Amino acid sequence: MADTGPVTGEMGPLIVVLSGPGGAGKGTIARRLVAADDSIHLSVSWTSRARRSDDAPDAYVFVDREAFEAHRADGGFIEWNEFLDCYYGTPVPEAGDEGVLLLEIDVAGGRQVLDADPGALCLFVDAPDDDELRRRLIERGDGSDRAEARLVEAERERTEAAELGYETIVNDDLNRAINEVSALIASRR
Ligand code: 5GP
Repeated sequence: MADTGPVTGEMGPLIVVLSGPGGAGKGTIARRLVAADDSIHLSVSWTSRARRSDDAPDAYVFVDREAFEAHRADGGFIEWNEFLDCYYGTPVPEAGDEGVLLLEIDVAGGRQVLDADPGALCLFVDAPDDDELRRRLIERGDGSDRAEARLVEAERERTEAAELGYETIVNDDLNRAINEVSALIASRR
């Protein structure tokens, strides 16, 4: 979908894509990595969806559809997707950005990032098994129908991630999963 060229050159950031089902813990892992290392930055996506009461103030850049489309036409996104009638997109990193740029996006977005930057590191954060994923989804407020729909979507994304060469991180123990992600990032820097 994105029609921009390569986004990272020799001097650009290492792009690290974190994908995985809701409830697997990718957001927690991303926040912990950013807090622990000044050279790791979290990309703030743009979205046309309305702000939710549980969104952190800096969760997204919230814009209307017209503003999103105008920015997309200007080549302002390295990838974008439409999910439940709302746009989501990753802005092109600012020139000169170095270090690591974390993107918390879906696997369809990860595919576009890899097309633009084959050197990107793509990680799929998963729960240990479906029972545990279901338990976490219901605990955070999804009804059982929605949780089942997310489990189906998770399985589809798992297959797509494997095709794309994502590394899988099983989040059975948060500290262990963070260490595993850190080690993979270190091996690419
Ligand atoms: P939510 O509306 O719950 O915040 O996000 C909905 C979905 O959009 C999630 O799967 C989330 O990972 C994905 N998403 C968030 N930002 C981006 C983005 O910039 N690009 C893409 N492709 N997906 C995103």
